[in-house]
Amino acid sequence: MEDAARTNVPREQFDFDCVPETDQSFENALAKASDGDRLTVADGIELLTTGTDREGIDLARKERVLEAADRRRAEVVGDDVTFVANLNNNVTTACNTGCLFCNFKDTAQHFEEESDDDHAGFTKTPEESRRIVESARETGIYEVTSVSGLHPALALDDDHVEILESSERGDLNYKPAAAYETDPGTYVDQMEAMDVEGIHLHSMTPEEAYHARRGTDWSYEEVYGRLADAGLDSVPGTAAEILVDEVRSVICPGKIGSDEWVEALEAAASVGLDTTATIMYGHVENEAHRVRHLKRIRDLQDRTDNITEFVPLSFVHPNTPLAERGMIDAGATTHEDELMIAVSRLFLDNVENVQSSWVKYGDEQGLKMLSCGANDFMGTILSEEITKRAGGEFGEARSFAEYVEMITAVGRTPVERSTDYRQTRVVDPSDPPFGPELGPAADGTPLVNANGTAAAAEDTSPADD
Ligand code: SF4
Repeated sequence: MEDAARTNVPREQFDFDCVPETDQSFENALAKASDGDRLTVADGIELLTTGTDREGIDLARKERVLEAADRRRAEVVGDDVTFVANLNNNVTTACNTGCLFCNFKDTAQHFEEESDDDHAGFTKTPEESRRIVESARETGIYEVTSVSGLHPALALDDDHVEILESSERGDLNYKPAAAYETDPGTYVDQMEAMDVEGIHLHSMTPEEAYHARRGTDWSYEEVYGRLADAGLDSVPGTAAEILVDEVRSVICPGKIGSDEWVEALEAAASVGLDTTATIMYGHVENEAHRVRHLKRIRDLQDRTDNITEFVPLSFVHPNTPLAERGMIDAGATTHEDELMIAVSRLFLDNVENVQSSWVKYGDEQGLKMLSCGANDFMGTILSEEITKRAGGEFGEARSFAEYVEMITAVGRTPVERSTDYRQTRVVDPSDPPFGPELGPAADGTPLVNANGTAAAAEDTSPADD
């Protein structure tokens, strides 16, 4: 047995009501999971803790949970490992929300015209976003993901700007675009700009949708309806963190509550948008919070049936306020990461795809997760520096060639997918060079940078993306 305590900061300091205690046994829970029965929260806690009857993680039990999850993965989706050719185009890092786990943001004041403060952040105009997406389209990209800080000047559309301008309220986190060095336009402007023909636009998290209706009585249906009209295709179920309010009030007190997060995603589904769902774990929460989160996602999916994938995100703690304030001093252990993937697969019996995020886990561990219940290996998440195609001899970095090599090395089948998984293409490992073929301008040419070197993937997103 191994003591899996991951932090010297006792979790008891947070005095949560929700704690990992059950009247279930590990053996019963594992038997139910192996039989394919729907799991209760107590079952999930038993599996995630490898039994509440003992301290720490029992490695022999852990292996049995991982094996059950791997078998379930094989039954549900077979041996395919999917990935998508996508680009991150985040509009701005300006944000005043102050989430304690985030090192993506820059205080919005720094972006003001009159500020002398140095900052490394950015804001893009709609025209810049358009150029970036058009250029990426030519490389063979299928999807653009855009998740941004909550810039005070961002509003849904011109009507929303008018409402915010005339409001007497001082609590709306609004300042006119004229106050800033760069005008990001409205959310609708940005969606229209990134709505390049044939490109799938994945954007507007529940938190962004909240920002796009602040100070109005508009419903989330109205907001997502207008965004869909402007070109939005699907919604990232990020900003979820842990969908238990006693955890949210510690790590992101400025964000919407868990009920509102669910309401927003349900509204997105009601206007015909697909969504994803995430969990960001490994900070102040305990295993009971993680399983309650899974239950909220499973309940939501029972109602909407539009969640295309579930993405466990292991919290990367260095340089975050949570670490700087001494509230945590470590993230999840590798054992916890593996169990999180496995229990996600076993608990979410209505979500087909579970993603392994190599950005969070690293390549080696990311690959290992494919035998713990995961079947999707993210996307290329190329940066906007990619501006042109090049010959096949350049395509041997992360992009498709690396995917093919890594996935075949673990005996699985590499499969290019569309964002919604409705289109898939098996990549023949014996037929290089490897490039995307599903994007509107994709013809199998490898993805490369403007300087001709292979494109590097980078994580330029909020911590929970
Ligand atoms: S997680 Fe998002 S909302 Fe929170 S501070 Fe970071 S950018 Fe802002």
